[in-house]
Amino acid sequence: MRTSRRNFITLSAIAAAGLSASKGVAANMVTAGKIPVGKIKLFFEPYNLALAHVFTLAGSSRTSTPVMLTRIEFDGVTGFGEASMPPYLGETQETASRFLSKVNLTQFSDPFMIEDILDYVDKIDEGNRAAKASVDIALHDLVGKMLGQPWFKLWGLNPDHTPNTSFTIGIDTAEVVRQKVQEASAYKILKVKLGRENDKEMVQTIRSATKVPLAVDVNQGWKEKEKALEMIFWLKDMGVVMVEQPLPKEQTDDMAWLTARSPLPIYGDESVQRLPDLIKASGLYHGINIKLMKCTGMREAFTMAKTAKSMGMKIMIGCMTETSCAVSAAAQLAPLAEFADLDGNLLITNDLFKGMEIKNGKVTLCDLPGIGIKKI
Ligand code: MG
Repeated sequence: MRTSRRNFITLSAIAAAGLSASKGVAANMVTAGKIPVGKIKLFFEPYNLALAHVFTLAGSSRTSTPVMLTRIEFDGVTGFGEASMPPYLGETQETASRFLSKVNLTQFSDPFMIEDILDYVDKIDEGNRAAKASVDIALHDLVGKMLGQPWFKLWGLNPDHTPNTSFTIGIDTAEVVRQKVQEASAYKILKVKLGRENDKEMVQTIRSATKVPLAVDVNQGWKEKEKALEMIFWLKDMGVVMVEQPLPKEQTDDMAWLTARSPLPIYGDESVQRLPDLIKASGLYHGINIKLMKCTGMREAFTMAKTAKSMGMKIMIGCMTETSCAVSAAAQLAPLAEFADLDGNLLITNDLFKGMEIKNGKVTLCDLPGIGIKKI
């Protein structure tokens, strides 16, 4: 055990000195079986996020979000993960608990075998995407910590290329909306949830309080393509810079029609969950909203981002209401994105971690290894 520990420290020290220098050495050490030997153990516990404001979407309102916190331990190193499960997505703490109970990571002795481990997790059952993401995130955090590097560096991404994050202004009365806009004065772009009868009123209310660019998320709330196009032209005149999921995901022909004519870039969110959905989204959207809780985590999110770029599509990185754990994991991908919607941790009052920060409106990555977080 003493030898293993010494080798592990050596690996971290080499990795900390620079990835390019360490990569070959680390690979050799893994091949030679000199990394620490032990069992990979998964732990999980439910947690409820308290929301600062009542959160209203096109279809529902709520004041809290259930999550499942995970951690993976290996040779004295701990990786943290999280599943966020807003009710409309269908997963619950019960379903996550049932799924995670089936995950037996002790059969693996090398956490660097990310592909093998996550392929196994993905095949345990259908769906359970947030629960799968909670394993994926914890494993990435663990491996990054063992290498002594954050994932944006392991992926070769430039942290200066992160976009500004949007901050969501939920649907509410005019007075509360104006108050929320005041509270959000630090952000360079605001996101507005539309898809109800009072859409124009909502945008006008925000415009009466700020001049910053607006992103709108319709959450499938519009039904008619002609009205949607008319609305998008109006929104452009109101300083809106992008539109997310204007029509129901089933209306693919209407989406293609709308995207071909839209003066603003249109991003698919509900339509594009995992990698196979991205392939089908070609021609339907200008870009996609990648969220770890939809796509089972960082491994698939990175593949989706690279694939979307190769298809000529744009990327936004989004999140659910989450602690800084899952948000910081998503933020590792932010240098690949045109837009970021990483405000999930800012909407809660009981965060458990410190990590990615918004500085001067911009997603600012933390240089800590793994997903770049520490427990508060
Ligand atoms: Mg959305």
